[in-house]
Amino acid sequence: MKITVLSGGVGGARFTRGLLAHLRTVLPGAPDAPAGTTAEVTVVANTGDDMWFRGVRVCPDLDTLMYTLGGAVHEDQGWGRREETTRTSTDLAAYGLGGEWFTLGDLDLATHLARTELLRTGLGLADVTARLCRRWSPGARLLPMTEQEVETHVEVDGPDGSPVLLHFEEWWVRHRAALPARRFVQVGLGPSQPGPGVLDALRDADVVVVPPSNPVVSVGTILAVPGVRDALRATRAPVVGVSPVIGGAPVRGMADACLRAIGVETSAAAVARHYGRRDEGGVLDAWLLDTADAAAAEELRAEGWVARAVPTLMTDVPTTARIAADALDLVAAGRR
Ligand code: GDP
Ligand code: CA
Repeated sequence: MKITVLSGGVGGARFTRGLLAHLRTVLPGAPDAPAGTTAEVTVVANTGDDMWFRGVRVCPDLDTLMYTLGGAVHEDQGWGRREETTRTSTDLAAYGLGGEWFTLGDLDLATHLARTELLRTGLGLADVTARLCRRWSPGARLLPMTEQEVETHVEVDGPDGSPVLLHFEEWWVRHRAALPARRFVQVGLGPSQPGPGVLDALRDADVVVVPPSNPVVSVGTILAVPGVRDALRATRAPVVGVSPVIGGAPVRGMADACLRAIGVETSAAAVARHYGRRDEGGVLDAWLLDTADAAAAEELRAEGWVARAVPTLMTDVPTTARIAADALDLVAAGRR
């Protein structure tokens, strides 16, 4: 079985870790595994948050995936390396270059240095990512959505009221998404193409999962890469989404600020309708939401959705494995 996941950072990485844990219980060697069952998980990662910073290429969502699936993530924080230190960033601040709002951990910096060195040899980001993943054995294939530098910028009001563009990371990390966003702009999107393997991973999948990632700046950015939305609409695989919104609020982070900017209410039903059903021109076939939103599930079913409410708080790996199993179950009947 081939499963393709369209992921941002923390939400998508935690979900994928649970998915892999679930698959390990149904694969060869596991007590209930059907004979010959194998599974291959491909993650198409958002690279819209990437940036050049201090001379190195930083890929926040790819790294969160790599560290989470590779067992190296700072668990409480959800991103970055565990047992991280920040001596280099602290020392750099003394030079007063600006940009002190973004801290590169000492261990994390090693990843960015390695990535930058590999990129400088002429390798594309897909090959570079595969090379970095050799160390971490994430158990899934991590593919950048594109190899071109597509960066999400946020348009906010400048001091004199005229529009100013900030890199997404500056808006999110420095300003904690508190500056009202007028809109998101993907700089470099026009001439970009899906990264190597991305369209194949959508076409050849048996199931595609949209995990509980930010619908605007994670999944929305992946879908905006020319060709990706069409490939998702065309795949024979069923597409199931898991709501990142529970009871009218994002579980962590400030996704509500992103949804507001695109005029979508922060509710599990509104996010489902924003993605839309494939039989109505959208990208999903089914939607898994939280038991707190059972009424919304009912509402969506009345509109013709395949929707189910289950506990979706990813509190630990076994609980998250259950959520992944529920997502797969929801579309199992339609799977070819
Ligand atoms: P980011 O790139 O690090 O922001 O991560 P993602 O885009 O992959 O995921 C962010 C989203 O994950 C947020 O909007 C959260 O609401 C959602 N999220 C985080 N933890 C949970 C959880 O335990 N359950 C659910 N349903 N969503 C979650
Ligand atoms: Ca991100």
